[in-house]
Amino acid sequence: MAVYNIAIDGPAGAGKSTIAKLAAKKLGFIYVDTGAMYRALALYFIRKGIQAEETEKLAEALKEADVSIRYEAGEQIVLLNGENVNAYIRTEEVGKMTSVTSALAMVREKLLELQRKLATEQSVLMDGRDIGTTVLPDADLKIYLTADAGVRAERRYKELVARGESCDRMQIERDIILRDQQDMSRAVSPLRKAEDAILVDASFLTIDEVTEKILSLFEEAKKQKGK
Ligand code: C5P
Repeated sequence: MAVYNIAIDGPAGAGKSTIAKLAAKKLGFIYVDTGAMYRALALYFIRKGIQAEETEKLAEALKEADVSIRYEAGEQIVLLNGENVNAYIRTEEVGKMTSVTSALAMVREKLLELQRKLATEQSVLMDGRDIGTTVLPDADLKIYLTADAGVRAERRYKELVARGESCDRMQIERDIILRDQQDMSRAVSPLRKAEDAILVDASFLTIDEVTEKILSLFEEAKKQKGK
């Protein structure tokens, strides 16, 4: 059976993971959330009490950190040294730390091999920041999914409120903009649209509309490749 790779990149809060999960399910592909892997490493550093600027300590700690993933009922479980850390990686604190530590080459190198290996073993829909540009440069379909920063902040705000977390809507928007700037301006694997990626602006589209669009773009890509 042919192995297909779909890459979805874009800024925080554009709906990548929700949409990627839905599209992967419809296609029968594995959904790989690479952000969760970077978050797991950031959680490890936080737990060790290491600050983002303490590069030497980070390098030392990194040697003892092992990230792997497993699937349970179609859900990606991230294991940090064997522990399921899914419940701890979605906080704002971890998100902010991740954006800083994911800029380090040593952190990226640690996860690159795992991500590439997953994509050779089975058909995957992988989301992140550098999938189309670095991780899977030969992906069958590359999507750059974005949305207006205000729209993304509003969605994130609603998500946090629904989870019962107290938050400030304006602060969320400032954090989102800062996180995008950090991801786009770093030297190693910055967030940017791959030349051959298709830009999808989800500001005024529903989740289902974006999912359908991706599925139809994939059908087209498959026809073109004759795969
Ligand atoms: O997608 P998510 O919000 O979970 O990603 C958290 C952070 O992980 C991003 O802000 C980015 O700094 C980093 N990341 C990355 N490369 C990826 C995926 C995520 O640098 N492929």
